[in-house]
Amino acid sequence: MTQQEETSILVLYTGGTIGMMQDPKTGALVPFDFDNIYAHLPVLKNFGYQIDFYSFDPLIDSSNMSPGFWARLATKIGEEYEHYDGFVVLHGSDTMAYTASALSFMLENLNKPVVLTGSQLPMGVVRTDGRENFLAAIEIAAAKEDDTAIVPEVCIFFQDQLLRGNRATKFNAENFNAFASTNYPNLADVGVHIKYNKERILKPNFKRLKVHTNFDRNVGILKLFPGISEDFVRHAMQTPGLKAMVLETFGSGNATTAPWFLDALKQAIDNGLIILNITQCKGGSVEMGRYETSLDMARIGVVSGHDLTTEAAVTKLMYLVGEGLETEKIRELLQISIRGEMTV
Ligand code: ASP
Repeated sequence: MTQQEETSILVLYTGGTIGMMQDPKTGALVPFDFDNIYAHLPVLKNFGYQIDFYSFDPLIDSSNMSPGFWARLATKIGEEYEHYDGFVVLHGSDTMAYTASALSFMLENLNKPVVLTGSQLPMGVVRTDGRENFLAAIEIAAAKEDDTAIVPEVCIFFQDQLLRGNRATKFNAENFNAFASTNYPNLADVGVHIKYNKERILKPNFKRLKVHTNFDRNVGILKLFPGISEDFVRHAMQTPGLKAMVLETFGSGNATTAPWFLDALKQAIDNGLIILNITQCKGGSVEMGRYETSLDMARIGVVSGHDLTTEAAVTKLMYLVGEGLETEKIRELLQISIRGEMTV
């Protein structure tokens, strides 16, 4: 057997545009039948890999994604982990960055590639970007060096960029190049060759995979804007059952210095709420204390989220709170990068 023949990939199909094709009779978009994938994409055979397919039921538009679905996805990867060299997840692009972030936290000690991809145009449309995305994702999931996966982490492949999953964000609803990772360089650039940026890719630790599926949904996101009302902030902070709040602030982590605002935050923190400060900017990091407008938030116990994306911030909180950890332990883990999600 050649090494290619030994390589096996599991494709997990969750739904989204990539899996759609036009029904020849009605013209409507219907889910692609992956049982007949080799008839639609005979080129797949040229890889020489064993490629198996698993479709979730029901298939969903990724706007309906949920922690329950993430748990099913992570559990399936856990169950099949020893049987495959790599995994490709076909997913709608709208919430792909949330799923990639969530999976990065769910899959501790991941030593194999989990490559999420999707498309802006359905697979069955002539000008589709799905075909190229799908084929490159398979090649990346199968890539090995010295019998070890080249990209043993959760990542997103779209158009020509391979991005760390928990650093990526969807930034364009129109272009084929739909994702960006402004605070972390591409893991690979795909053109004529696939150029892996090896020093930026997480190294395998060869430990046993641990799947964590207990995400806690009692987290929120509050995006600040000039003129935000006291009533709105206080109600949000006092949401019954809320355990953690991502606060999207201005610039390098700044917010109004109005006494009512700090008071609302302090009261919530004193009542046990974890508040994580991330920036609304698309690039750069929170630096609490750099300006007077973030100094007081640091003093009352707002935690810096450094350069986390919104997607990584909210899923990291869902994960840490779901693990049932003490507040102090969660605050400590928020200050370190546990899956390559932030720069500290
Ligand atoms: N609404 C679709 C989804 O996220 C868009 C896409 O597939 O890209 O499922």
